[in-house]
Amino acid sequence: MLSDSYGRVATDLRVSLTDRCNLRCAYCMPAEGLNWLPKPELLTDDEVVRLVRIGVERLGIREVRFTGGEPLLRRGLTEIVARAAGLRPRPELSITTNGIGLARMAGALRDAGLDRVNVSLDTLRPEAFRELSRRDRLQDVLDGMAAAAAAGLTPVKVNSVLMRGVNDTEARALLRFSLAHGYELRFIEQMPLDAQHGWRRANMVTAEEICDDLRQEFTLTPEGPDRRGSAPAETFNVNGGTARVGVIGSVTRPFCGACDRVRLTADGQVRNCLFAREESDLRGPLRAGASDEELAVRWRRAVAGKLPGHGINDPAFLQPDRPMSAIGG
Ligand code: SAM
Repeated sequence: MLSDSYGRVATDLRVSLTDRCNLRCAYCMPAEGLNWLPKPELLTDDEVVRLVRIGVERLGIREVRFTGGEPLLRRGLTEIVARAAGLRPRPELSITTNGIGLARMAGALRDAGLDRVNVSLDTLRPEAFRELSRRDRLQDVLDGMAAAAAAGLTPVKVNSVLMRGVNDTEARALLRFSLAHGYELRFIEQMPLDAQHGWRRANMVTAEEICDDLRQEFTLTPEGPDRRGSAPAETFNVNGGTARVGVIGSVTRPFCGACDRVRLTADGQVRNCLFAREESDLRGPLRAGASDEELAVRWRRAVAGKLPGHGINDPAFLQPDRPMSAIGG
């Protein structure tokens, strides 16, 4: 098991497959992009699959989410998914994606064994999409979501980050859209993880503001801790029906006490928290010939030292050196 000194057990592995992305969302990356990891530093497909296998077979990982950067840019994605689906016990497999290219790949990913997708969508207005992501690709994202639903990659979850003065008036429209298509929407508070270090608390649209806004049009009934489990989203039943909406108050309503996540970066570093300031290298030992058990020992040690909380609200908080896109969101 991957347990820490506060009694938490990590069973949910987020694997970043690349730090590159084909969007430039303002809350994540500068317009000019970043210094991408050089190819030799990236784990190969075989190395990714080996580490996932060690996680599943030896360390109690039950859920694997491929992310990035943009995971659909990873050429070997379908093959990696297929190999992960062959592991026993079979992990639940999902990806977090911006949806660009999903229209083309959804069927193959489903056939390979992918169970679900989370698609990021912050606005339904083409102009706002262009301004926020610095690319004119809204229709590609919408097509990707529809293809994912048609392929059975359900429930299709939608991740939205609201930014003051940019898309903060769109919460209700995003929920209306998600309800109409049978997607499950989750709002995520903007976190201090952007490469430009431009996050300001005053500009963050809080979970409370989002809920207040939604309540002007919808009846939200909290689903309670049983439904929430270790998932970060506080979920609400919408209008007494079967639909739900989630609000992830990463900053104002931290859920660190229930965190069951561990992350593996595209260059083979274990991170026990999005906000960790230290990483544990698995790639070096792996390439030097370490056995599965030796790698598992290092991984266990990396999780054992997890801090009780992310510390964003501490006066001494320091943003991690790597931005979200390089950690794997
Ligand atoms: N490219 C994929 C995507 O767009 O979903 C996966 C990587 S992206 C970093 C994963 C998620 O992190 C997206 O939903 C994105 O909106 C979110 N994200 C990125 N930067 C963020 C920030 N500073 N605060 C909150 N969420 C952020």
